[in-house]
Amino acid sequence: MQTEVDTLWEYYPPKAEKNMAKILKIIQEKNLILRKKAEPVKDPNSAEIKELIADMIATMKDANGIGLAAPQVGVSQSLFVVGLEDKNYVFINPIVKDISDDETLFEEGCLSVQKIWGPVVRPKKLTIKAVDENGNPVKIRAKGLLARVIQHEMDHLDGKLFIDKAEKIYTIEGQRS
Ligand SMILES: [Zn+2]
Repeated sequence: MQTEVDTLWEYYPPKAEKNMAKILKIIQEKNLILRKKAEPVKDPNSAEIKELIADMIATMKDANGIGLAAPQVGVSQSLFVVGLEDKNYVFINPIVKDISDDETLFEEGCLSVQKIWGPVVRPKKLTIKAVDENGNPVKIRAKGLLARVIQHEMDHLDGKLFIDKAEKIYTIEGQRS
């Protein structure tokens, strides 16, 4: 005769803890990692990349940012995240094409260049092709703020900062240059 046995979990597997995203340190303007061209991500499906993505999204939200590129957390790999209107986008090994001729001026700031803003001219629309956090190919025709953030983050992957392109640079105190 079989007796039914209720299972008593004496402990919970440490799964929840393992999935907790970490807040990473955002490196700043003078750090040369920000000036390097990022390497392609070899395996977008690796556990390391999945963990990095989760940590980057948490770090971006924690800093009230709308975009964050891997070099900004000291990882020189071709990957960035965008968070707009409660939607998160992940772009791994992105390529931008079909850039529009019409341009627009917009005030930018950067989590790696704190307390500084400046107007930057950029094309209004573009198409981005990349791989997402599940390893699936994505293709998005972007305009407005999304197109703006994508171009700012693509620059990070190229070792460029918005202050290289800004027409003027402002600090809280006033104009810097
Ligand atoms: Zn930035």
